Amino acid sequence: MKKIDASKEPCSECGGRLERKHITQEFEREGVKVKLSGIAALVCADCGEIYFQPGGADKVAAAANSLFDLAIVEKQHKRSLTARISQPR
Ligand SMILES: [Zn+2]
Repeated sequence: MKKIDASKEPCSECGGRLERKHITQEFEREGVKVKLSGIAALVCADCGEIYFQPGGADKVAAAANSLFDLAIVEKQHKRSLTARISQPR
């Protein structure tokens, strides 16, 4: 997971082309799993490296942390918690 300044830049890992995609990320902490779906990101078509817009990675991490807090409050340790971002069409 890396940050990138512009969507036109090639992949810094392999120089591949970045595609705008909506991705799903899973996080696990102390046996609790949370999942975020529909996150807008840039994904390298060649190596699969994921890039977020500036500040995006921090927001994703903050959202995951909030889900962990919610899962712990609700004692959902045995279940996974999913948050989905829906794009209007
Ligand atoms: Zn790449």
